[in-house]
Order: sequence, then structure tokens, then C-alpha cells
Amino acid sequence: MTDPSDCLFCKFVRREIEPVVVGESDLSLAFRDINPQAPTHVLVIPKRHVADAAELTAASAEELADVFALAAQVAADDGLANGYRLVFNTGRDAGQEVFHAHLHLLGARAMTWPPG
Ligand code: C5P
Repeated sequence: MTDPSDCLFCKFVRREIEPVVVGESDLSLAFRDINPQAPTHVLVIPKRHVADAAELTAASAEELADVFALAAQVAADDGLANGYRLVFNTGRDAGQEVFHAHLHLLGARAMTWPPG
């Protein structure tokens, strides 16, 4: 497990590194992805360190719900009235690279299915 003191996204939460923050609650932080895959590409994370969506679900229904609520708020703020995609890559086969749970919010372009 990643040590929170070495975790990139924990450093964002502590503002040791400053991401471009677009939303925040007591439990969650939303910031723009550094390598956007859509005109809107925001990551929403629980402030508490958990590795992935499964750990977040097991840890706290309140924190899980807060992440989704903040994502909905950011989608509304970004004017994504035509829809958007929410993705938790969970584990290496899914392409997870940062092992602090994060919900991808992608929007402002048409999406295709299935994902790669
Ligand atoms: O789901 P996955 O773990 O692959 O996503 C990690 C995301 O974190 C990537 O979209 C990557 O661009 C983003 N990232 C970031 N800022 C960093 C490092 C990674 O937004 N400094």
C-alpha cells in the first residue's frame, strides 16, 4: 500500500503540490487532470487515503457518496447538461496508475463505447 506521506494525491490534499482545484467539500477534492482526455477531465478524490474504489466502498459509504456528489456539482458547474462519463479505474488491468482512489469525470465531447 502507498504510504500517504509519499502519495501524490495526498500531497494535493495537503496542498504540498497545488493542483487546479475546481471543487472541494469537507471529505473530497476535485481538480483538473494534468493530461486531459476530454475538454472537461476532472478527478474527484476522497481526502482520506484509500487505494481504490473497492477500498473506498468498504471504508465509508459517506465518503463514497460525497465523491459522487462533488462530481455532480462540478459537472453542473462546467455546464455538462448533455451528459458526462464517470469512471473509477480499479487495479492494473483497468489502467489504474495512481493508487489513491479517484473518480474520473469526463465530458464536453461525445463519448464512444466500449472504452479501450
Ligand atoms: O485511473 P488512473 O490511475 O490511470 O488515472 C490517474 C490520472 O491522474 C491520469 O489521468 C493522470 O493524467 C492524472 N494525473 C494528474 N496529475 C498528476 C499525475 C497524474 O492529474 N500529477
